[in-house]
Amino acid sequence: MIVFNKPPYTTNEDQYVLEAMRSGKMSGDGSFSERCHKWFDERLSCAKSLLTPNCTQALEMAAVLIDIKPNDEVIMPSYTFVSTANAFVLRGAKIVFVDIRQDTMNIDEKLIEKAITTKTKAIVPVHYAGVACEMDKIMSIADKYNLCVIEDAAQGMMATYKGKPLGTIGHLGTYSFHETKNYTSGGEGGILIINNPKYIERAEIIREKGTNRSSFFRGMVDKYSWVDLGSSYLPSDIQAAYLFGQLEKADVINTHRLRLWDEYNRILKPLLKKNVIELPTIPSKCVHNAHMYYIKVRDLETRTKLINYLRQNDIISAFHYVPLHTSLAGNKFGEFCGKDNYTTKESERLLRLPMFFGLRLEEAQYVARIVKEFYG
Ligand SMILES: *Cc1c(COP(=O)(O)O)cnc(C)c1O
Repeated sequence: MIVFNKPPYTTNEDQYVLEAMRSGKMSGDGSFSERCHKWFDERLSCAKSLLTPNCTQALEMAAVLIDIKPNDEVIMPSYTFVSTANAFVLRGAKIVFVDIRQDTMNIDEKLIEKAITTKTKAIVPVHYAGVACEMDKIMSIADKYNLCVIEDAAQGMMATYKGKPLGTIGHLGTYSFHETKNYTSGGEGGILIINNPKYIERAEIIREKGTNRSSFFRGMVDKYSWVDLGSSYLPSDIQAAYLFGQLEKADVINTHRLRLWDEYNRILKPLLKKNVIELPTIPSKCVHNAHMYYIKVRDLETRTKLINYLRQNDIISAFHYVPLHTSLAGNKFGEFCGKDNYTTKESERLLRLPMFFGLRLEEAQYVARIVKEFYG
């Protein structure tokens, strides 16, 4: 059986987790968290990175940080994970969904300006499959209307746009270390990336239950107390320990995933030429991270048949998001701006093939061969 995903594991994770367990300090911001923060600060050249228990909470922190208030509007694609929207809905925002581009499944940057009103506060581009949104255009719109940009780069670690790591282009960015992502901190995890230094101090306060505890530990205040709105957004050091094992092997993991992705693409290319499926598009400004390998088939019916055919051959494949604006809550808390030309139609055609660090090249070749066989 070829499963759809297995959590990434390299070699040192067990040893580090044991070390964290035996260190006498397992709570947040211990020594492994510090090592992870250092890795990200250096690798991303960001103003500050802060580990969170998951990406959902990094997005929630971002919403508090940019002062989202009831009736503010936040622009994002409908083709995304619920957390992208929920984080802002929790603060009372209304979500304004914008259609996606047919080629990358990312928010169509040309439609954003039409969705802006006097209530608009932020734009949340989602880098689907680790392939960047058109960030130059999005940042210039944000500049023009004085909006915040929060990159949901949950799937984007190790991917770049014009050489810049995803998550470091907007005012704030987030990664996920859930076990379905390229890197995990033991099943659940995330990080908030701060690119504008003006957010650092308040982010630390929000993350520490609304207290100035971080300043206290740096010796900047002589006691700590409740100073602002906040919650607890620290992962345990055991989570950080698992993650650190993965960060040390970040390039090894990335290289293997890209190799699998290229192999899928090579074997399936003839089907593209025959015009029976579409393959992923990677714009030339983008370097992706092989987060996902998807194909687009003719329609929903073909997709169901292909999923079943793969299953008969012991392969688990998966479709992806049901557009948020068609969901019960999405309809209640958000509204689709303009016409849904691609969001629903393209989401129904998309099928994801197995893609994970532990997948062997021969297994990917087998999966691709079965897809070809389906089309005869
Ligand atoms: C995975 C994912 C999230 C949520 O990440 P968690 O770490 O599970 O909270 C948010 N947005 C997108 C686009 C994702 O893919």
